[in-house]
Amino acid sequence: MKQGELRGVVALDGPSGTGKSTVARRLASTLATRYLDTGAMYRAATLAVLRAGVDPTDRVRVAEVVSAAEIAVATDPAAPTTTLDGATVSAEIRGHEVTAAVSAVSAVPEVRAQLVAEQRRIIADAVLHAGGIVVEGRDIGSTVAPDAGLKIYLTASECVRAERRARQDGADGRLSTVEETLADVQRRDTYDSTRTASPLRRAQDAVTVDSTDLDLAGVQAALLAMIAQRGLCRARAGSGSEH
Ligand code: C5P
Repeated sequence: MKQGELRGVVALDGPSGTGKSTVARRLASTLATRYLDTGAMYRAATLAVLRAGVDPTDRVRVAEVVSAAEIAVATDPAAPTTTLDGATVSAEIRGHEVTAAVSAVSAVPEVRAQLVAEQRRIIADAVLHAGGIVVEGRDIGSTVAPDAGLKIYLTASECVRAERRARQDGADGRLSTVEETLADVQRRDTYDSTRTASPLRRAQDAVTVDSTDLDLAGVQAALLAMIAQRGLCRARAGSGSEH
């Protein structure tokens, strides 16, 4: 199996609309390593709940549906496909219906226990076979991978996050105003940070990166510098080692 340039785990946490997904995916591509979008797993679980006609706030039934669902995410940053029961659902899990229900589903402790165990398995496999992985979510540095070599907490002002989300939605063909998106961002932030089971919070040893005034290239450069500083980078191909 091809070994990438990253040694170990980079955990990227933060609220929605910070550019986390784009940053994490590009970082993984640049380092020729693997990428795990844990939000996609919670979204696929939510789609399973909606398809089963179950109320997302019915904790017992939600736990039953999700435990029977077959959720898989690919870790290639060039094609991070998500499947539910064997069928690709990468586009459907980004729709408004799933976005509106995902915080309730991901607050169910049994759902978290199931998905966190699967995330740890994927991370261990990536470290073993590819050398490293960039993982994004809400509780990666605090719960899923507390031993990660680098923990980043990515933030940005609420308005900038709402603008970015609305732009992304527009690019993906889902029309929504900045006001609607701002309300959704605020609702999900509150839900995600006040739930009892591994809430969104900055790990104590995480480095906060505020992307309000930084573009993608700026954030990526800052992260690459931290990765190099911590010795998490393997020599590039052609530099004489390990190839
Ligand atoms: O990152 P994304 O916006 O796709 O995440 C969707 C939702 O999944 C979040 O609002 C949150 O409720 C949940 N989530 C979570 N823990 C993670 C990743 C996502 O609870 N590690």
